[in-house]
Amino acid sequence: MFDISQYRVPPGTLVSLDDHDPNAKVGFEGGKKEGKRALPKLNDRLYTLQRKLWAESRQKLLLVLQATDTGGKDGTIRNVFTGVNPQGVRVASFGKPTEEELAHDYLWRVHEHTPADGQITVFNRSHYEDVLVVRVRELVPKERWERRYHHINEFERMLTDEGTTIVKVYLNISKDEQRERLQKRLDNPDKNWKFRSGDLDDRKLWDKYQEAFEAMLSRTSTEYAPWYVVPANRKWYRNLVVSQLLIDTLTEMDPQFPEPEEDLDGIVVE
Ligand code: AMP
Ligand code: MG
Repeated sequence: MFDISQYRVPPGTLVSLDDHDPNAKVGFEGGKKEGKRALPKLNDRLYTLQRKLWAESRQKLLLVLQATDTGGKDGTIRNVFTGVNPQGVRVASFGKPTEEELAHDYLWRVHEHTPADGQITVFNRSHYEDVLVVRVRELVPKERWERRYHHINEFERMLTDEGTTIVKVYLNISKDEQRERLQKRLDNPDKNWKFRSGDLDDRKLWDKYQEAFEAMLSRTSTEYAPWYVVPANRKWYRNLVVSQLLIDTLTEMDPQFPEPEEDLDGIVVE
């Protein structure tokens, strides 16, 4: 449906988020109504591909999702994976590290959640928090987080060398859109549970977070594990883009049903 490559961050480029319109809906003619109607077909295609990946059980896919608060990570997961077989899809969410996690290196808690053969794993936040919140809030000295871009690139290289396909998505919303979404969390009792007063402190650090996201995109988009900056103010468009990205990636991986053990022609079950 879309040319996904327009959202891909070419390795080695300096990203400025000012150049990325969070309202974009390039490649889609219709509006919200048509956009919502277009999703089930993509859900079906994803299901078909995932079924093959699971049956084949030789390849694995990791989707990393990063965004600012209210960026839409949860909604993306809910909508994009509607209809897939839950057996083959895992979601790993990374919140504030526990004491035990903090006592280890920052990749320790991440590695065990990477996908096994046949699986798709979604990271809802990830090791990138260790160059985002950790950088912005200065949770470790600069000399420590500065080295992490390199570690992360090497970690992801190892994963891809060993057979994992990685795609990374940054959901790009505007500051105004974040205000509206945070206000909804305050005004709508159904959404109150999602609100943390810390979100307002983070909002005050908006510019510093944008800088940290830009550094992440500039320094860790690689040929083997590229970042995509997905316009995410329009939730329906965001869902279509992420779905299409996964469909394109899995199509490229081209999983196949295994050959049956023997010639099944003419066998009749009594
Ligand atoms: P949520 O995704 O709304 O459940 O929030 C998770 C919180 O955990 C966010 O405020 C993140 O910034 C925070 N978090 C995730 N990873 C880390 C990390 N490595 N160090 C510190 N805070 C983190
Ligand atoms: Mg939150």
